[in-house]
Amino acid sequence: MTGIQLRVGLGHDTHRLGPNRPLILGGIRIEFDRGLVGHSDADIVLHAVTDALLGAAGLGDIGDAFPDTDPAYAGIDSAILLERALNRVRAAGWQPVNLDCTIFAQRPKLASYKPAIRQRLAELVGLPVESVNVKAKTGEHVGPIGREEALSADAVVLLEKQDARRSS
Ligand code: MG
Repeated sequence: MTGIQLRVGLGHDTHRLGPNRPLILGGIRIEFDRGLVGHSDADIVLHAVTDALLGAAGLGDIGDAFPDTDPAYAGIDSAILLERALNRVRAAGWQPVNLDCTIFAQRPKLASYKPAIRQRLAELVGLPVESVNVKAKTGEHVGPIGREEALSADAVVLLEKQDARRSS
């Protein structure tokens, strides 16, 4: 007899803030006078979620899967990277159960954007919106987050083996 098989995965990402860049968090364009610097679109939320998915399935990390030295990924929409990672996770027999994430930003204030980010993450990961949660924290004016030098995101994902519900 086999029980339900679950795996948890953790993801984290940090990018520097810089001028003349759009700010995109969780696939949503955020109004701000700076954006995140990176090889792709530098969407820390989608990068953290992608790493959480890969981690839960035991498939390494986003840097293994999509090297930032590869010109194919320059400026790429991180939703495409997440979709490709999710395809690998599903091909390995795993299905997301829920997703929780925290975005660390002194500014801009993200409260008004949280519902849109939540909705977009639910679409991208293929979950009902109730199974996705988005939190936002400031840096309390200390450290690289608090000094507005960088933004960070953490994510945790639970996966269930796709055929694990049969016996229930
Ligand atoms: Mg990144």
